Amino acid sequence: MTNETHFGFRSVPEGEKARLVRGVFESVASRYDLMNDLMSGGVHRLWKAQMIDWLQPRGAIRVLDVAGGTGDIAFRIMDRAPQAEIVVADINAAMLEQGRNRAIDQGRLARLTWACMDAERLALSDRSVDAYTIAFGIRNVTHIDQALREAYRVLKPGGRFLCLEFSAVRNPAIAAAYDVYSFNVLPKIGGLVAKDEDSYRYLVESIRRFPNQADFAAMIEAAGFRNVQVRDLSFGIAALHSARRI
Ligand code: SAM
Repeated sequence: MTNETHFGFRSVPEGEKARLVRGVFESVASRYDLMNDLMSGGVHRLWKAQMIDWLQPRGAIRVLDVAGGTGDIAFRIMDRAPQAEIVVADINAAMLEQGRNRAIDQGRLARLTWACMDAERLALSDRSVDAYTIAFGIRNVTHIDQALREAYRVLKPGGRFLCLEFSAVRNPAIAAAYDVYSFNVLPKIGGLVAKDEDSYRYLVESIRRFPNQADFAAMIEAAGFRNVQVRDLSFGIAALHSARRI
């Protein structure tokens, strides 16, 4: 019998999920950055800034930014630590292409590598990076536990894991308003701007399926990480999870 997993609120065979997720991001790649600003009213920029503030990249740090898409996290790390070596890894060539074009436009050519790979099977050696970052990526992965084990494998001892992801809103009144916005308004913006209402409905559904702050922290610990810490952003609409490979 084939194992099933979720794709948004739908149940699909496990082997199908990566292809479906790839389809979503292929479809939205060219409008991805614009959509992020429209959907969040620019707030995703503040969340990403908070992620980099917590990471505090310095010197010639070697960073792997998984599900790095169009390079938003990598560019912010470079701005803070110009000597950093960054690999942007993503399963989707169309997203990486957008990122590479942005990098060329901004003259960011040195110390940046773009690599098409799956978070579950990283083509990097054991203990080879100082920091592993992933922003709004891990909820799209089929086997989150396997992606976390890979993060642990590639990090050097003492290395830092930092994940930015949508999470669970703790205040019921804010959660109710957020639900109305997410299920009714957001897919419509996706339909109008990215011409793809279904992909944005998947994004909303995938956010609701993702484990809450405490459950995700437990998964990180189960992968071997220690010193797991959580910071809520905007009432828990998003959260940062930080951990160390000891
Ligand atoms: N990190 C970027 C940001 O914050 O703007 C992009 C986030 S975007 C919402 C999610 C990204 O995850 C997409 O580029 C998608 O292709 C990538 N992705 C989905 N599944 C993946 C997987 N299994 N391995 C690596 N990347 C994956």
